[in-house]
Amino acid sequence: MNKAESESLELDLTERSWVCAREPGEADLVILNTCSVRKTAEDRIWGRLGGYKPKKQEKPFKLVLMGCMSERLKEEILNEAPHINILVGNFQKHRLLDFIEDSRAEIPSHGRKAQEAATRPGRSTPCVSLTAHGEYRFSDLHYNTGGPRAFVPIMHGCNNYCSYCIVPYVRGPEVSRNPKKIMAEISRLDKAYVREITLLGQNVNSYNYSCNGTEALTFPALLKLIVNNLKRIEWVRFITSHPKDFSEELIRVISEHKAICRHIHLPVQHGSDRILKLMRRGYTRGQYLNLIERIKNCIGGVSITTDILIGFPGENREDFRLTLKLMEEVGFDDAFTYRYNPRKGTRAYQLEDSVTDSEKRERLIRVIELQRRISKKKKMNKIGSRCRVLVEGFSKKSREEMLARTEYDEMVVFPGKKEKIGHYIRVELTSLKGNTFAGKEVK
Ligand code: SAM
Ligand code: SF4
Repeated sequence: MNKAESESLELDLTERSWVCAREPGEADLVILNTCSVRKTAEDRIWGRLGGYKPKKQEKPFKLVLMGCMSERLKEEILNEAPHINILVGNFQKHRLLDFIEDSRAEIPSHGRKAQEAATRPGRSTPCVSLTAHGEYRFSDLHYNTGGPRAFVPIMHGCNNYCSYCIVPYVRGPEVSRNPKKIMAEISRLDKAYVREITLLGQNVNSYNYSCNGTEALTFPALLKLIVNNLKRIEWVRFITSHPKDFSEELIRVISEHKAICRHIHLPVQHGSDRILKLMRRGYTRGQYLNLIERIKNCIGGVSITTDILIGFPGENREDFRLTLKLMEEVGFDDAFTYRYNPRKGTRAYQLEDSVTDSEKRERLIRVIELQRRISKKKKMNKIGSRCRVLVEGFSKKSREEMLARTEYDEMVVFPGKKEKIGHYIRVELTSLKGNTFAGKEVK
């Protein structure tokens, strides 16, 4: 979501004739878009803010902090980081551009004026705070990279209040985007260079749009509407789905439409019913396993990835064992794995953070190692097979090598030329390097 929102802001700034600086030292305006889901993400931003303080003394620039940290830590940030010029939360982003433009004239360039501004003690102008909650406004377009993939936000916020999670507090309640706006954005992407889209939301499958008492448009209906109107875009993905909202209708729509990628990201978080209940996830281990079985039975070859959250308050060895067991039973293709961080304001914050740091670390390592083994085994079974990929760009290592993605969300590198970028081609998977396939192009 942050990537999509950042791209949309970059696009707006470019339209107002801002140019991307080659390095932070050259910038007249620095915007940090922030995440509050985990403490580590926030710590990185505090580190950056510290680093920008002396830099602002050397060469003044406007510093903007946007996103969830501006929501969560408004007072603390205003006290601890007086060098921030504009603080903008998730509901006032549309106002940011005007404030940036208004202050553009004040941005001192190099030279004497800059020196004067830099030597003024403390804050030269008061921080503008755009953090009041209101109606969330979706941007019209979230694509600025020029690459073959694009994000399309379809809903915002979350009503689930999982006990560990800060999202509902900083992103507010669920709101579904007007389908006409979604279709208009997709149509623009289709006419541009884009070949694959990812529908975005904290909880995409609870998408539900209705206007003036008309019948609500659900997520499966929206998916059908989208895939039936595509021209050049051939693949559609969506993240993130909540297991409790993954309906039979959704399974059926995916199975009936080839344009919907056979990859489902379905965060389970934990394998113990006791912990799932404390997490307020709204499903049991058995219900999750049953859902996986129905998905696998109906959607041939589907890959399933997940999020696992280790070290929730009160997690004991048996709870942990059940999580490892569930991972083996499902055989996830991949997993994002996290250590629980207490987030002030959430329900779990009231619970004693009883699992020690070393236990959390040790358990997380075991989860990661197990997932690596499972992923490797599943991927090794695919060596020698052929599949379709979308070529995304150069590989990290060489400009003679291209990076592509399968519909199952697996990465493949293969020798190729840059003309292939943005094209679907067929490759044979020849070997596995870490988590990435090596392949060669075939007819
Ligand atoms: N909406 C998605 C769902 O319900 O599965 C997940 C969105 S959440 C922003 C992304 C992931 O961050 C979660 O799946 C969870 O594993 C992790 N997460 C959320 N709160 C966390 C916390 N307090 N500490 C560590 N990880 C956390
Ligand atoms: Fe957070 Fe739960 Fe909402 Fe996902 S569903 S964003 S984990 S509260």
